[in-house]
Order: sequence, then C-alpha cells, then structure tokens
Amino acid sequence: MTQVRLQLERSYQKQLQRFLAKWYASFGRVLRPYLSNLRQESLRIKKLPRAQRKDATNIVLSELDSLVTEIKKSQEFYDYQEYTYVWLVRFYELGAIDASASIGYPAISTRVNKALQRVYVAKEEKRRFELKDGLILFMLQDRAYFSSVLAAETMIRDAKKLIRDKFFKSDSAVEELATEMTTTFDNMSIKRARTIVRTESQVAIGNATHDMYKRSGIEYHTWLSVGDKQVRPAHKDNDGTTVRVGDPFQSGQIHTGDGPLATNCRCSTMPVIIDGLSFWGGGALLPVI
Ligand SMILES: [Zn+2]
Repeated sequence: MTQVRLQLERSYQKQLQRFLAKWYASFGRVLRPYLSNLRQESLRIKKLPRAQRKDATNIVLSELDSLVTEIKKSQEFYDYQEYTYVWLVRFYELGAIDASASIGYPAISTRVNKALQRVYVAKEEKRRFELKDGLILFMLQDRAYFSSVLAAETMIRDAKKLIRDKFFKSDSAVEELATEMTTTFDNMSIKRARTIVRTESQVAIGNATHDMYKRSGIEYHTWLSVGDKQVRPAHKDNDGTTVRVGDPFQSGQIHTGDGPLATNCRCSTMPVIIDGLSFWGGGALLPVI
C-alpha cells in the first residue's frame, strides 16, 4: 500500500516540478526590462563613497519586490496556481487513502489499493478516490495560492542575490547579466522546484493523514522519520515518540507537514489503534471522466 502511494506521489511530484521549473525559468525573461534600468543606477551607485554603496544597492534591489505584485496579476501565476491546486488535491487524496489503510479498514483499503494499483499501472483506469469535502478543497485552494506566492518570492530573492553578486560586486555588464540570469534561472529552477513541490506534497499528505486520524477517532499517533543522516535534529528527537492527536510533538508540530519544519521533510506518522473507529465521509471512489 505505502509502496504504491510513494510511487504515485513521486510521479505526481515530477509533473508538478516540471511545470514549476518552466514557470521559474521564464522568470529570467520577465526580469530583462528591469535589468535594462540597472546600468544607469549602477553608474550612480559606483560614484558614491564605499560606505554608502551597500544601502544604495539595497534600495535599487528593493524595487524588485514590486515585481511580486506584477507576477501575481499575470496569467502564468494564475495557471501555476490552478495547476498546483489540482496536484495538491491529489496529494491530499493519497494521504487520506494511505492513512485509511494504516488505520486498518480492510474493505476500503483493499478497494482503494486495487484502484490505486490500476491507476498507477494503466492510465485508462476509470475510477479513483475523489475528495468531496468542500472545506478541505477550499483549504487546498488557499494553499495553492500561498505556494504560488512563495515560489514568486523565492524567485525574487534569488534574482536579488544574483544581481548583488554578479552586477554590483563583480561589475558584469547588463547584457551579460541578463543572459547569465536566464541560464542560471533555468538551472536553479529544477532545484527550487524540487524543494517547493516536496514541501507542498508533504503539507497536503500530512494534513490529510492528521485529518483522517481525527475523523476516525484515532487518539494517539507516533512520529516516524526515514532514519537516515539527512533527517533534521528536531525530527530525530520526534522519531518514535507518541502524542495525543492534536497535541504538539517535541518539535512543536501538531503533525508532519505542519509549519516551516515541513520544508523537504520526509517523515510520517503511524496511528495507535484503539477500538471504536468510524470512517469519515469526505471522499469516495468515483468514476472519472
Ligand atoms: Zn522530517
């Protein structure tokens, strides 16, 4: 079951990563008009006493922040947000399915597992688990917006660093910088996209798992890290500890995918099974058109 979920998760992540990387790479071109004004500014700044240059440079760079507002109005931003939403819903569905299986609903998990295997093996599969809960769908839409803004802000931050290092510190020409920027953004886009997508899928899956535990009457859950050297210290401390569902683990997180420590996290939680479970009605196996 978990194996199928992980395979699906990875293939979902790849598709979202490709889309984000494309959007991110196109950003180098969006920056060109801004870069053309930089030459004049840089001549002015280079005449200033050394002590004043840093502040003047920061003022010029702060203009880049207004680009986030422009990006938010663009069609590309809207498309990315829509696309992210669709994938977040799928990640959430995967998390809910996985949690329902770990809680031990043999009838449901067997049905879902079979459907999942078929979805994974054959694209022509006609049925899949579909999330129907309006509140959760709304929450995921919000998250998609948040994730798009985050991606845009990360792009601006990377751009600032590039301009500061290459232009103001090492004196590159504007044309050179513009070209370099496009190439660099193409290369960085893959890495950035991977981090953003990994984090977002972890947030959706962590929320789904926690939601499923709450709705199913699970009282306690145990934190599980993957156990390698890359696990962050806070999650090493969490590893193997059990808390009441809804209470924070030692890291301060209520569940995996909660808060800033979700970045690049691969942890999960395991339910502690007690009698008296009831299955939620927030999703169903439905035909897909
Ligand atoms: Zn972790």
